[in-house]
Amino acid sequence: MPDRLPACTHHGPMRLRPSGGTREQQYCGVWYDCRANHCRRSVLIASPALLADLAQQAAAARPAHHPPREQSSSFTSAFGGTRS
Ligand SMILES: [Zn+2]
Repeated sequence: MPDRLPACTHHGPMRLRPSGGTREQQYCGVWYDCRANHCRRSVLIASPALLADLAQQAAAARPAHHPPREQSSSFTSAFGGTRS
């Protein structure tokens, strides 16, 4: 649960949307809907698991100081030695 509940700018605090409780829904996070019937505002509070995955993807997309190629080549050479 988030520390601060999301609020509609016009109608105040939002209501937690009942979820089916599937693994996918738990992974994505929870939705909050505005309590006003005519208001269609809703907010997704991403789950820690989803945020971690997104952070990982962002880190992977970023150019690294040490390209993965160097790692794989040293990995290969470590196993390429002859056995005595
Ligand atoms: Zn609203």
